[in-house]
Amino acid sequence: TEAPASLILLFGATGDLAKRKLYPSIYNLYKKGLLSDRFAVVGVARRLKDDDDFRNWVKESIDTFGNSSEDLTEFISHFYYQSHDVTDSESYRELKNLVDCLDTTYHLDGNRIFYLAMSPEFFGTVAEHLKEDGLTDTKGFKRLVIEKPFGHDLPSAINLNKRIRSAFKENEVYRIDHYLGKEMVQNIEVIRFSNAIFEPLWNNRYISNIQITSSETLGVEERARYYDKNGALRDMLQNHMMQIVSLLAMEPPIKLTTDEIRSEKVRVLRALRPFKNEEIDQYFVRGQYGEGTINNETVPAYRNEPNVDPESNTETYVAGKFMIDNFRWAGVPFYIRTGKRMDKKSTKIVVQFKDIPMNLYYKNGSSLNPNLLVIHIQPEEGITLHLNVKKTGQGMETNPVKLNFSNKSIDGMNTPEAYEKLLFDCLRGDATNFTHWDEVALSWRFVDQISEVWANQKAPFPNYAAGTMGPKAADELLEKDGFFWWPVA
Ligand code: NAD
Repeated sequence: TEAPASLILLFGATGDLAKRKLYPSIYNLYKKGLLSDRFAVVGVARRLKDDDDFRNWVKESIDTFGNSSEDLTEFISHFYYQSHDVTDSESYRELKNLVDCLDTTYHLDGNRIFYLAMSPEFFGTVAEHLKEDGLTDTKGFKRLVIEKPFGHDLPSAINLNKRIRSAFKENEVYRIDHYLGKEMVQNIEVIRFSNAIFEPLWNNRYISNIQITSSETLGVEERARYYDKNGALRDMLQNHMMQIVSLLAMEPPIKLTTDEIRSEKVRVLRALRPFKNEEIDQYFVRGQYGEGTINNETVPAYRNEPNVDPESNTETYVAGKFMIDNFRWAGVPFYIRTGKRMDKKSTKIVVQFKDIPMNLYYKNGSSLNPNLLVIHIQPEEGITLHLNVKKTGQGMETNPVKLNFSNKSIDGMNTPEAYEKLLFDCLRGDATNFTHWDEVALSWRFVDQISEVWANQKAPFPNYAAGTMGPKAADELLEKDGFFWWPVA
């Protein structure tokens, strides 16, 4: 069923995110009949002139990044532009006039989504102005969608949250973590809670360890200025990786409601084993890429990238081991690794089951492969189950086989983009796949301890070559527990 009537106010309308993801997503919802006819989009930015200029911008975005073949005239007629400086009250009053007027024209029932797709330094300012200048004063719903990063440590996140909460209630704040919009991330819950063969085994009696890899082949690209101040720990681990850990480890919620699911995720974060500063090396490994080769092309070291400090101590790679000290998971390591300029682009989860008690098929040093459940998140989407079967022919030797399910192999299947799903959720008022403040606070507290220690110790960077799977210390992290990283290919 379609979403209710709503106005979408998009701050940062000429930005990269809006162009590559948001307009194509809004359009897909429209095309699928999921958007109400009663919708309007107001783009707010500094660069463009007027509505026509903006409509062309949106059209070009959809032609380039979307999949449209038809005439977009009707669709883009719902788009309006407001040139705006986010620090200037006068701008907001003009915006309010436009919004009130569109509310009447399109019968929007006063429903408003404020989407902040702009530099995070403005998030607090915009939220405060929206209230002060009357834009949140509406008889319909009001929701704030806010992009990452949510602060760069716990104190800054608390400060930002205070400013936002002066204008919006917690249940009106939609903190985007676009990993939560991905088809196979949403599938984690379904795989766990709708299959009799997994959930009974989903604990420390049957699982030996879980590995989550999110590797990129790209370097820092145009984000160097931002990235060099943040690094992989803040950019990837605090949000995306810790979200995946909590989805894998959470208890079954009593109902599939936003509150129930989010509170189970919070409980996982509360159960993370704390460690002393001097123990951090036993749990976390940082890396920074040096020069190397990817797809037969030589790429420069991180420190030689434009806009990166030539002596940068920023990590472009992080591997870690989370221990969850509760009844279900005591003793089971959750390993994560994520980095730039690695060998392959891949996000996947490997659940390694414990060895069976006795190997009846032992022969000349042979060992049985453990059962693995692999959840492929991107670029492939699907699941693979690794089993042992009998080698055909004489004898009783075993052979590992893979049972594969791939989303891509379903005919005509084109999984919607994360942003399309998240926008639709927001329009319907479903905040399940957005991050609650409690999750943000707990994950920052965990990450802050690591970044403080790392900031005070110069690392022996670079310590992995571009085009490899990371520093040697990341392999040793698993080796000392008797494990190894399963290949991602
Ligand atoms: P961008 O720099 O490309 O766009 C910034 C936008 O903000 C532009 O439209 C600009 O006109 C507007 N803007 C800047 N200063 C302004 C001011 N003073 N008044 C009014 N408008 C102003 O940024 P982006 O890459 O689109 O990223 C936007 C947000 O989305 C960031 O928080 C980023 O972290 C997040 N994000 C981006 C991506 C991505 O793929 N680009 C992915 C995930 C998250």
